[in-house]
Amino acid sequence: MTQAANAPQAVFAEYVWIDGTQPTKELRSKTKTLKGAPPSTSFALGAQIPLDLFSEWGADGSSTNQAEGRDSDIVLRPVRAIHDPHREGGYLVLCEVFTGEGDLHSTNTRAELRRVLDLGAAREEPYIGFEQEYTLAKLDGSPLGFPVNGYPRPQGPYYCAVGARNITGRPFYEDFMQRTAAAGLSTTGFNWEVMPGQAEVQVAGEALLAADHIWLTRYVLHRTAEDHGVAVSIDAKPAKGDWNGAGMHTNFSTAKMRAPGGMAYITAACEAIGRNIEAHLAVYGYGYEERLTGAHETCSYREFKYGVADRTASIRIPRSVGDKGYGYLEDRRPNANADPYLVAARILRSVCNLQ
Ligand code: MN
Ligand code: MN
Ligand code: MN
Repeated sequence: MTQAANAPQAVFAEYVWIDGTQPTKELRSKTKTLKGAPPSTSFALGAQIPLDLFSEWGADGSSTNQAEGRDSDIVLRPVRAIHDPHREGGYLVLCEVFTGEGDLHSTNTRAELRRVLDLGAAREEPYIGFEQEYTLAKLDGSPLGFPVNGYPRPQGPYYCAVGARNITGRPFYEDFMQRTAAAGLSTTGFNWEVMPGQAEVQVAGEALLAADHIWLTRYVLHRTAEDHGVAVSIDAKPAKGDWNGAGMHTNFSTAKMRAPGGMAYITAACEAIGRNIEAHLAVYGYGYEERLTGAHETCSYREFKYGVADRTASIRIPRSVGDKGYGYLEDRRPNANADPYLVAARILRSVCNLQ
């Protein structure tokens, strides 16, 4: 029997949310069957997908470290949808978490970034490029490319390398790249990193979009890795000793910083961030002390300095920006495991002098 042309096609929406795990939040997701909804393929890649296609949904907060008091029902409210690269016609739907009463949930850090943007930061037209580093790991947790006993050759050949002695996990890496494209994620580049098994994906855009897309990119990372029998870790220091940690360098600008004469605003931004060192470190990810040692292209967390083309500084002003006199700054301190909503909100609070 052939299927009637007008039979309702099921479209699957994967609702993705951020849980309450400490010290580093994790992603959760579950699938909603949409009846009679248009498939995601009816929207261009990267186009804004109307959120009224997706109703609110509930989940069990007691299983996601999100139960508050005796009230364990949490509400998932869709806030951004993209194509699901794993299912023809499906959606990935990023959600904010609310309590059963409809109040902001304490784990909802996206709300903090919205608050700061609404307070006035949005007028500055903030733009962010995150450099998300991650480490591929075997299922026992050891980094890919590390032998069962002992260590691989010392760091040096692995960064942006080619060749089987330097790179492990190329099939994953290529597959992941294609999936970010099929999802319409706002990526700008990919590279292999200094430590074996470590790589980076760059995501850029308007502040809220960039932060949303980092979380969705993390989802696609973990999901792709499943299919390759490996795991993705965003630990800040996945291998102890003389091995690079994993960061999430945060490239930041406002409209004023991007316009001719912007260097004055870039310098002022560095100074403003430098007046709030502890508040920034507090949201730059668990274990920053292990990563920000002063070695491995980092500045010690005990110091704060900024400079043009300085990869030993807390904040680097790229050489090209120094030459032109305008552009952006790079805060090199956020860990790979930092929450991009909190990183963005904190930078905006300092730079725009908001509480
Ligand atoms: Mn980079
Ligand atoms: Mn990097
Ligand atoms: Mn960088």
